Amino acid sequence: MSNSLLADAGTRLQDAMKYVSISEDAIERLKYPKFSLNVSIPVRMDDGSLKIFQGYRVRYDDTRGPGKGGVRYHPNVCLDEVQSLAFWMTFKCAVLNLPFGGAKGGITVNPKTLSKLELERLSRGYIDAIADFIGPDVDILAPDVYTNAMIMGWMMDQYSIICRKISPGVVTGKPMTMGGSIGRDEATATGAFFAIQTILPKFEQLPQETTVAIQGFGKVGAVLAELLAKSGYKVVAVSDSLGGIYAKQGLDIHSIRQHKLSSQGIKAVYCEGSVCNSVAHEVITNQELLALDVDILIPAALENQITEENVNSIKAKYIFELANGPTTSGADKILEEKGIWVFPDILINAGGVTVSYFEWVQNRSGLYWTLEEVNQRLEQKMVAETEQIWSISQQQSISMRTAAYVHALNRLGEALSAKGTRD
Ligand code: GLU
Repeated sequence: MSNSLLADAGTRLQDAMKYVSISEDAIERLKYPKFSLNVSIPVRMDDGSLKIFQGYRVRYDDTRGPGKGGVRYHPNVCLDEVQSLAFWMTFKCAVLNLPFGGAKGGITVNPKTLSKLELERLSRGYIDAIADFIGPDVDILAPDVYTNAMIMGWMMDQYSIICRKISPGVVTGKPMTMGGSIGRDEATATGAFFAIQTILPKFEQLPQETTVAIQGFGKVGAVLAELLAKSGYKVVAVSDSLGGIYAKQGLDIHSIRQHKLSSQGIKAVYCEGSVCNSVAHEVITNQELLALDVDILIPAALENQITEENVNSIKAKYIFELANGPTTSGADKILEEKGIWVFPDILINAGGVTVSYFEWVQNRSGLYWTLEEVNQRLEQKMVAETEQIWSISQQQSISMRTAAYVHALNRLGEALSAKGTRD
């Protein structure tokens, strides 16, 4: 699987290239990551032993501004995955017209097996190892899968210690007491919500008549589930890495969130018989969730979930990609043939990096915004770019994914040409 991720990402570039008139040189540059770093991070474990972890940072492209992208902690992290994620960040920042290039980082680790102190030493060690390659004007970090505000705080502190000056702009998604932006934690879900609300009226699909299944109930999927449920959508299925639950009449998302926080997983919430259990439900697997007969399917976990192997079981009408890269390019083609609409990751989950940009702006100006200001600006950006991509897709009769790449490529191509021949 791992060898094909970046190649698969490149297929999207090929598809979109037919619809843009940018130079061959620009296309050639965008085929390769600018810079890939692999570091070994020594960590003193609580039992006194020394363990070496593998860490990565990839800056895919910085033509439009400093590299920008999260840091993932996961046992499957490898260079190929980080490069693909950095590729997607490049296009995501261009789609939202943020003044950033694309980057990504990761550590091959299962963070759930580390103590809090080990996690802190690992996070600080990662910054020690990559400090020369990041900075508020060079490459800016953020949270991703299994990283959070606490970890971003340690990273920003470590970088500031190394530089001997407080440098909040090197990391976004920090705790608010360390210069984090209000609304950043919920921003990916909030942005997706604005995009969904912009798109569904085009299909005359009303919230009250819309059933939703969400794969992934973490900081993104769970927040979106609650936003949708509050707005009248019927969220009928949710899952986490341990499995999921389904109830035809809709789930009580608020209670599930409360219980998930204090339990081992969604299945446990139900199987152990909690207050959420007042609704009759079925316990389902992640594969069964993907195959449910719902209006909207939202993959909000990891990449490569909808593949050529399971694509024929998909029954949803619309797929909104909250995860990065959940659909393979092979599956994409089949979904298109089946008439299933796919709304792509580089648009749908871009709310996170958009509020990261707002955080970076606030850090640089020293003036902090209210939640209303943050969400108003986020809504304005998400709606405007969604509408533009919709128009491209309609005018050129291409998928929303290809349209999003076309939109990003036009901006990237312009920036690459403006720089001229610096090589
Ligand atoms: N990790 C998030 C993403 O994949 C956020 C990145 C950021 O805020 O820089 O979009």
